[in-house]
Amino acid sequence: MRATVMYGVHDVRVETVPDAKIIESTDALVRVTRACICGSDLWPYNSMPASEPGNRMGHEFIGVVDAVGSAVRKVKKGDLVVAPFAWSDGTCEFCQQGLQTSCLHGGWWGGVTLDGGQGEGVRIPQADGTLVVLPVGPDHALMPSLLTLSDVMGTGHHAALAARVKPGRVVAVVGDGAVGLCGVIAARRLGAGQIIMLGRHADRISLARTFGATDIVSERGDAAIERVRELTGGLGAHSVLECVGHGEAMRTAVSIARPGGAVGRVGVPQEETIPNAQPTFYSNITIAGGPAPVRAYIEELLPDVLEGRIEPGRVFDRVTNIEGVPDGYRAMNEREAIKVMIEF
Ligand SMILES: [Zn+2]
Repeated sequence: MRATVMYGVHDVRVETVPDAKIIESTDALVRVTRACICGSDLWPYNSMPASEPGNRMGHEFIGVVDAVGSAVRKVKKGDLVVAPFAWSDGTCEFCQQGLQTSCLHGGWWGGVTLDGGQGEGVRIPQADGTLVVLPVGPDHALMPSLLTLSDVMGTGHHAALAARVKPGRVVAVVGDGAVGLCGVIAARRLGAGQIIMLGRHADRISLARTFGATDIVSERGDAAIERVRELTGGLGAHSVLECVGHGEAMRTAVSIARPGGAVGRVGVPQEETIPNAQPTFYSNITIAGGPAPVRAYIEELLPDVLEGRIEPGRVFDRVTNIEGVPDGYRAMNEREAIKVMIEF
């Protein structure tokens, strides 16, 4: 089968690899129909030390179940399924709490030993806990929005929950990538009053407005912090969604939260420390968040997608086939594309 392998900085190749197959009785085998490239794939794209086996890539995908192991009960051959970006058993202490990213028997797609979503087939460990069956066919018009349930829409929702978005609250979103844009959708869905998007790219700003952003701040650094203060009567935001991960974004996020407010961080931190320890202490600012347990959110968000109340699939502005994946990485890295969908 064909699959995406990353060997080092800016070195992504599509290669023929051994076919995915069932190993454990709890596995399923999925033939991928749609997948995508994630903003978080760009961190290794720009920093991965050269590796000879290389890392299989991709953690967002929808596909058709081709086979199941003897212990699998909840999915069957022929089901169309969406996979969250981490796999989990659905039964352990943390899964029962809705924190499937900390599953005691779970893990992450790709790397050296597991299949990734950016390939024709994936072996799914813990299939019963991991997969969610979709009640539509594989070519349904809502497929782009359904695909975002594997990561970016659930991650934006997680940022909003961690930042304690509630009806009428003032929300700020740091980061105008696909997750930030989904964060705007999530904030609006949870009833936010004012939604301030910090971003600079015209296409992303326009989409953010469509999704519900009420104000746009295109300044950077201290000027951005100052502008958010002006827009919030000098108080700052109740809820800040940090959807980038590097230190400057986090510094901005904690600086625009009001006293007693909360920052929900879902960008993978690229530094060891969180900035502004003293100001956030004296202002009683909560800093929460982490990898979103998107598996917990799929059922909650699915009706909103199926009934058209939210359209997160609009974050996809480019479509390619498997052979075009390396150029998709380049296009996202150069901010030529917001998010690239792969059709098989
Ligand atoms: Zn678990």
